[in-house]
Amino acid sequence: MDEELSHLIILQAIDTRLLRNKAELAGIPARLAETEGVLDGARTREAQYKARLDALQKKKKTRDGDLEDSLNRIKTLKSKVSEVKTNVEYQARLKEIDAAHSSVRKIEDEILAVMEEIEAMEPDRKVVEAAFREANAEWEKTKSVVAERGKAIEAENAELIAERAEAVKLIGSELYGRYKHLMGTRHGLALARVENGICKGCHMTIPPQLFNEVRSNAKIMSCSECGRMLYYQAEAGQVAASGAKAPGEESPGSAGQGGR
Ligand SMILES: [Zn+2]
Repeated sequence: MDEELSHLIILQAIDTRLLRNKAELAGIPARLAETEGVLDGARTREAQYKARLDALQKKKKTRDGDLEDSLNRIKTLKSKVSEVKTNVEYQARLKEIDAAHSSVRKIEDEILAVMEEIEAMEPDRKVVEAAFREANAEWEKTKSVVAERGKAIEAENAELIAERAEAVKLIGSELYGRYKHLMGTRHGLALARVENGICKGCHMTIPPQLFNEVRSNAKIMSCSECGRMLYYQAEAGQVAASGAKAPGEESPGSAGQGGR
């Protein structure tokens, strides 16, 4: 194999890895935001639940006070019945007591209704609290996973950047310039593998004549469709035997081609 070509294969594998790491790092804020959004939603639902429960309990407390007032009123009215002098006065007292009793019944019904509402909320409590706990745990987990992953990527990047500098040293400046240009214009893939006569960069079949030349890996050829530099790699079944791996398919350390 052409020596520079073997170094290019290593370089492309490193760059593919670096680009993938960059994309993963760039995706971290969105990943965090999504989990935080779920947590915020769960927190809001729990707060709404508590607010509703608080309001009902407050209502019950107020009604409990009203009930006590009404019962006291009945007691007072009854105690005064003996003091009345006329039948008219007596009838009027009885009417008042009657009214107080019906007010008590009304308040008792209201208290019962509020208590039923509070009771009906009980099953929701477990659901709401569990959802919050779960969202919170997921949030804490995501934060630590992401932080760890970020550190791992940074560490890997430092290694890749050092390896990259070594690989670049072994490639002529003109060829490296061409590589960099293609990296910029061909979506981060300057060097494409040819498999079964197809350029894996643009997925077009390359002419037989060109394929024969690429197959020898003796010279750096370009794809007639996408312009990427090409190299040949044994098809899937033969990969293990040849020990060669394509850029982007394996970590650069396993590329196996010479030069290191
Ligand atoms: Zn192509």
